[in-house]
Amino acid sequence: MARLPVRPEVAAAAPYGAPHPPVPVRLNVNENPYPPPPAVIESIVARVRAAAGGLNRYPDRDFAELRSALADYLIRESGVAEIKPEMIWAANGSNEVMLHVLQAFGGPGRAVTAFEPTYSMYREYARDTFTAWKPGKLEADFSFDVARGIGHIDRVAPKVVLLASPNNPTGVVLPIDAIDAIARHTAGRAVVVVDEAYAEFRRPGRPSALRLLSAHPHLAVSRTMSKAFAAAGARLGYLAGDPELIGYLRTVRLPYHLSAITQATALAALDHAGLMLGGVAELRERRDRLAAALAAMGFEVAESDANFVLFGRLADRHDVWRKLLDLGVIIREVGPEGWLRVSVGTESETLAFLRALAGIRKELE
Ligand SMILES: *Cc1c(COP(=O)(O)O)cnc(C)c1O
Repeated sequence: MARLPVRPEVAAAAPYGAPHPPVPVRLNVNENPYPPPPAVIESIVARVRAAAGGLNRYPDRDFAELRSALADYLIRESGVAEIKPEMIWAANGSNEVMLHVLQAFGGPGRAVTAFEPTYSMYREYARDTFTAWKPGKLEADFSFDVARGIGHIDRVAPKVVLLASPNNPTGVVLPIDAIDAIARHTAGRAVVVVDEAYAEFRRPGRPSALRLLSAHPHLAVSRTMSKAFAAAGARLGYLAGDPELIGYLRTVRLPYHLSAITQATALAALDHAGLMLGGVAELRERRDRLAAALAAMGFEVAESDANFVLFGRLADRHDVWRKLLDLGVIIREVGPEGWLRVSVGTESETLAFLRALAGIRKELE
């Protein structure tokens, strides 16, 4: 008998989080390996200093300046011109943004769906909002079959559909036509959130789902400053969608949820979007070289449009993960059995990983 009257589904679960021992090569949580450049650090300090003078007051609860800056950034990044500040929501990481979506649109007697393997936090948002978790499945090659996907949606009648593109942990992009087909099919019945946490890493010619917003008021696109934007420590995620949808997220948020320090930091980083995203082109190329190197070693590799690569198949993936850790390289044991995920690091980190893995393979043979 537990000493506290905890909910059984909470008692049974472990807190989310990758192990993070202090090893030299950390390729386990898809961070951008490059810290903010000195010019950005100076701007952050200046903005935060100014905000500090007003810390006796609550922050701007509607974060008007930040909404404008995020709308401008999305227009520049995606080429979608009609994004307005009133179409933007933000919170402490896109995880909190999506929790707001579940708080507003999920709940008891309602279901949320996503297609597995996908981001493991989705199931936790469901648990934490008392929403039924009814996942569908991707194909064996991690692609999405539209007819099967729509069949699943019809069976479970979700109020929320979460689509990660590029997906995590596979890195595979969901084609925009598939997203459009799901949006058409669910109009008036569900809210569809396209989780574009890794969007800035996608290949040219693969448009953001932002361009579908004007056609589908029940569609929203979630983004984050944690990955390509090199600001995981700032905790700023955001979402673009119809102003009515944004209004419901505003209703469920906690008072003053976005601190003045967070707003100041995010604004400074957005002032220097070009510098913050400076490493992205290089990371994209390195991702493709990493995927090619793994394939040349005989591994199966999922096609990634993100800053990580999922590779397999390993008879004992935990053993490989453990041996890499012993060599000072941490990657992520996640996704289907037999596969491991490695983030794209600096050139020397990526080489260190490949060298360690090659050594382990020799030992296995
Ligand atoms: C990393 C990640 C996020 C971003 O989380 P934050 O809370 O913004 O740091 C969202 N979705 C997916 C699929 C991710 O991998």
